[in-house]
Amino acid sequence: MENKNILVIEDNKLNMKLMRGVLRLGDYQLIEAFDAETGIQLARKQKPFLILMDIQLPGMDGLEATRIMKTDSKLKDIPVVAITGFAMQGDREKALESGCDDYITKPFDVEDLLKTIKGYYDRKETPN
Ligand code: MN
Repeated sequence: MENKNILVIEDNKLNMKLMRGVLRLGDYQLIEAFDAETGIQLARKQKPFLILMDIQLPGMDGLEATRIMKTDSKLKDIPVVAITGFAMQGDREKALESGCDDYITKPFDVEDLLKTIKGYYDRKETPN
C-alpha cells in the first residue's frame, strides 16, 4: 500500500493550518504533532515517508528531535526536512549537522515545498 503519510512537527497553529492546506493540494496524508516528543512517538507508530520539522519548538527543539530520530534504527531512514522562520547564518549548517536531510526557510513558496515533497515521494517509490 502506498505511503503518503507526512509527519509535520510544528508548534504554531497557523503554520500547521497552512501546512494542512499545502499537503491537501498534493493529496498527502498529514500527521500532526505540536511538540517534538509527540512527533517522535508518532513517527515510530505511523512510519511517515517524510518528516517536516519546525526547529523552534517548546521544550525539545527540532534539532535535538532530529538527532534522536537519526540514531534510532527504525526512524533514521525517514528523510527530515527542517523548516524554520529563523534565516540566521549558520542555521542551515546546524540543521544539516543534526542530521536533517534538507532545509526550507519560512515563508516558503507553496510550489517549491510541493516540489521538494514530491522529490522525496518519488525517491521512495524508486525500487533499488
Ligand atoms: Mn515553532
